Amino acid sequence: MTLRQHPKIELHLHLEGAAPPAFIRGLSQEKKIDISGIFDERGHYAYRDFWHFLKVYEAATSVLVTPMDYHRLTLAVLEQSAENGVIYGETFLSPDFCGGRDLGAWREYLHAIEEAAAIARIQMGITLRGIVTPIRHFGPDKAREVAVCAAETAGAFVTGFGIAGDEKVCEPADFAWSFDCAREAGLGITAHAGEWRGPDHIRATLKALNPTRMGHGVRAIEDLALVDELAERGTVLEVCPGSNIALGIYPDWRKHPIGQLFDRGVKVTVSTDDPPFFHTSLTREWDRLADAFDWDAGVFATLNRTALDAAFCDRDTKETLAKTLEAAHG
Ligand SMILES: [Zn+2]
Repeated sequence: MTLRQHPKIELHLHLEGAAPPAFIRGLSQEKKIDISGIFDERGHYAYRDFWHFLKVYEAATSVLVTPMDYHRLTLAVLEQSAENGVIYGETFLSPDFCGGRDLGAWREYLHAIEEAAAIARIQMGITLRGIVTPIRHFGPDKAREVAVCAAETAGAFVTGFGIAGDEKVCEPADFAWSFDCAREAGLGITAHAGEWRGPDHIRATLKALNPTRMGHGVRAIEDLALVDELAERGTVLEVCPGSNIALGIYPDWRKHPIGQLFDRGVKVTVSTDDPPFFHTSLTREWDRLADAFDWDAGVFATLNRTALDAAFCDRDTKETLAKTLEAAHG
């Protein structure tokens, strides 16, 4: 079995950030919005640096407006995931972009996304769950409104709550109310941290928001006592190496800390973040990791199992997925 065919679990994917360029191009043509400048001659997203990446991301996502756009987006994204062997994925969804934090509008977007996920489940054999995320740089007040949307729609599909956006803005404690609200609604908790800020910020996030999972978290490596604490707590890191390398946090695959974190006992998993923006896929991530750290099928089986254990889904779904993984890993 090749790495591409291998069944995979992916926990960290931004729905808008996973939009295939061809899909966005098609939508922009339908809507007669000219965003041709964000693509290179091969049709990929093109950007020069992190600042420009944000601009390109914003332009690409500007064509995603209606619930139907999100329905189609979900199908296009899941098709890519399924082609890479993903059997279970979780995606970040934001009422900030879907209905401007209005609960009624958010329900409509969610309905459209859930319908697409149900179709993908039948046609592509991939299961999806949603993690509602406020956008950090929109501030704590708006995050509260997002948390209310999350709590009101928590259920079979919306199973998690997180936070994305500019890590350098605000402090974790500013969002404690929102996270408590989500937790009380029974949602699983994750938070982006340790990507653009270091160990102190990871500690502050653990203290204020008490997540069981952390988006990235890789800069814990700058403080080995913190690495040991993460291992002890069993905090699961949603590591996205290709994203970190594309954005210049680490110079290359061998220098990426995922190998060290894994060796030191931290529960790591692998995801793609915003794959077409980083010219990656989960298959490519696995390939590069296998090359850089000599990881074999046994290591990938461990990563899959860690991800499945940490997944924000019900026990029946986990048991079904576990059987598929066992059959593949032997
Ligand atoms: Zn992310």
